[in-house]
Amino acid sequence: MGSIEVVCGSMFSGKTEELVRRLKRAQIARQKVQVFKPKIDNRYSSDHVQSHDATRILSIPVEHARNILDLVDDNTRVVGIDEAQFFDESIVEIAQKLAYRGMRVICAGLDMDFRGQPFGPMPRLLAVSESVTKLSAVCVVCGNPASRTQRTAGDQGTVAVGAKEMYEARCRFCHEPDLDTYQSRLRASVHSLGSASNGNSLTSGSNASSPALASNEQPTHEVLL
Ligand code: ADP
Ligand code: MG
Ligand code: ZN
Repeated sequence: MGSIEVVCGSMFSGKTEELVRRLKRAQIARQKVQVFKPKIDNRYSSDHVQSHDATRILSIPVEHARNILDLVDDNTRVVGIDEAQFFDESIVEIAQKLAYRGMRVICAGLDMDFRGQPFGPMPRLLAVSESVTKLSAVCVVCGNPASRTQRTAGDQGTVAVGAKEMYEARCRFCHEPDLDTYQSRLRASVHSLGSASNGNSLTSGSNASSPALASNEQPTHEVLL
């Protein structure tokens, strides 16, 4: 019986890991699996879906959502789609078509962009799906569950593909949707640092009125996780 499952959440919340986990289980059950991702996402590997933690599975990069319909084989039982937010709205109809054909369609994608706004086709995909799993990451400022993605570099354009050098996971209260505000706060905190201690931002965060920023210009949040 065909259906649509959506796995959503912020960056680093484990969407790709969860997608790969579900797909590998289907492969263990000897079901034919095909995995697609938008060509735009070539962060780690152009022919694999790969998590920040290096879990990966072979995938087919496609330019447009409609290419998926041409490439899906009739005997495929499970279709995985990663980074679904980068596709246009037609991904919704395509996922529906595949589900009506009897396939299990698993879509992973960002529910919000770095401003905290619904991302591309994701709202409609969530609406028409049978199952939604919303994952959270760990807020790199305060350690609480993170629902949002902070952009830390680049400009205000919605799509800029990057990983740790451009984005970090943050909770609602530590998230600063406006990149200019984020950057001017960062500069201010670097200026005022001179005498200040090199405190761990995990202990100074969780303050809604003044989100604590990393204590140096090149945050090395890996140490916090
Ligand atoms: P997503 O596809 O949602 O961006 P991935 O599945 O690629 O996420 O990566 C999840 C992995 O990222 C985690 O298992 C963990 O090893 C790593 N990671 C890095 N930063 C964080 C963070 N702030 N919170 C949670 N996990 C993180
Ligand atoms: Mg991912
Ligand atoms: Zn936080």
